[in-house]
Amino acid sequence: MFYCPVKIIFAHQALQKAKSELQHLGKKALIVTGKTSAKASGALQDFQKLLAELDIAYVIFDGISENPSLEGVIKGKELLLHNSCDFIIAIGGGSPIDAAKAISLAAANDLQKNELYDTQRFKKSFPLVAVPTTSGTGSEATQYSVLTDYQNRKKAGFGHPLAFPKLAILDPAYTLSSPFSVTLNTALDALSHLLEGIYSNQRTPLVLPLIYKGIANLMEFLPVILNEPDNLLAREKLMQASLYGGMVIAQGSTTLQHSIGYPLTTEYGVPHGLANAIAMEPVMELYYPAISSELESLFGALNTTRKDFLAWLNSLPFTKTLELSDKFIVDAIPQIMASRNMALNPIPVSEYQVRLLLEKVRTNK
Ligand code: NAP
Ligand code: FE
Repeated sequence: MFYCPVKIIFAHQALQKAKSELQHLGKKALIVTGKTSAKASGALQDFQKLLAELDIAYVIFDGISENPSLEGVIKGKELLLHNSCDFIIAIGGGSPIDAAKAISLAAANDLQKNELYDTQRFKKSFPLVAVPTTSGTGSEATQYSVLTDYQNRKKAGFGHPLAFPKLAILDPAYTLSSPFSVTLNTALDALSHLLEGIYSNQRTPLVLPLIYKGIANLMEFLPVILNEPDNLLAREKLMQASLYGGMVIAQGSTTLQHSIGYPLTTEYGVPHGLANAIAMEPVMELYYPAISSELESLFGALNTTRKDFLAWLNSLPFTKTLELSDKFIVDAIPQIMASRNMALNPIPVSEYQVRLLLEKVRTNK
């Protein structure tokens, strides 16, 4: 099965092409974003102009930080209800888009902070427009929202069909302002999603063309963009890879690759995409014997070999090791084992194997 009920407009000047769609979504929007991305990308200014033209009112909520908190979601819910907004526009990376999904569900179903993961209570949602300014999460095409419970130091996601955006507006120009580290880390997230489409035991052959094309785009254009950040063609190819990654995980979810990343983010502040990528090679090694034919088909389609693929990965300028404390390892293992992604691994993964993976990325053994 392939399910992705999102109207997707992917183009240069995409917002102009989305005009007629936007007209019918509501009368007053809550614009959900962070402190810099909406303005730096120029998307906010474009929206303000268009919304005025369409006579649609709006309230801006720019209080979403990286790894959005449960409290931020509740604040957004209250703002939406207080201002009688009837739809949401999320502008930014995965953080504002994920937060907007949760705000929509919290407001529509009157959820409290401790009920944000209680998918049984999700009966309706507000229409959501997602406007990515990073090329990484693909959140504009998924039913997932990843939130952080800072009180309990736990990052976790939920998935529900009502969380899919109604409309996604993708303009590669909105990623031009993203700094080097954000461009690289988010591209690594897209790469994780595409690989996890092969790893997931829910994999379907329907997504293979997306995976192959997405990874080919990353292999060709990520090195280009790291040297030429203003290369708009390369920005477009990365955005396409990111969208495809989102469409892929919307079918089969993520796996251990992401489960390992979450505690690295909550404990060491490692950005999401990088947190997945740190253990990318050892995770592939762990899975390889079980899914060698699927992975060899991927390398064949990419006209490469496993060795050359890993050489390309290792040539990218990101850290593959981290200093991890003993306490972190002891605390992280049960968290990783309990994460919902662990049910999607291509093979059963034991606590011992998780420990070995963490030991492999650890520099201070
Ligand atoms: P992000 O946390 O949304 O943004 C990272 C940083 O980059 C923020 O400081 C942001 O500014 C800035 N930024 C974003 N776009 C920019 C632009 N065009 N110009 C200048 N600065 C820009 O990063 P992300 O990697 O896109 O999202 C990560 C989150 O998504 C994580 O919480 C992750 O778990 C989640 N995720 C969700 C899914 C899903 O399917 N829902 C999948 C994978 C990951 P602001 O402060 O203004 O935001
Ligand atoms: Fe991700």
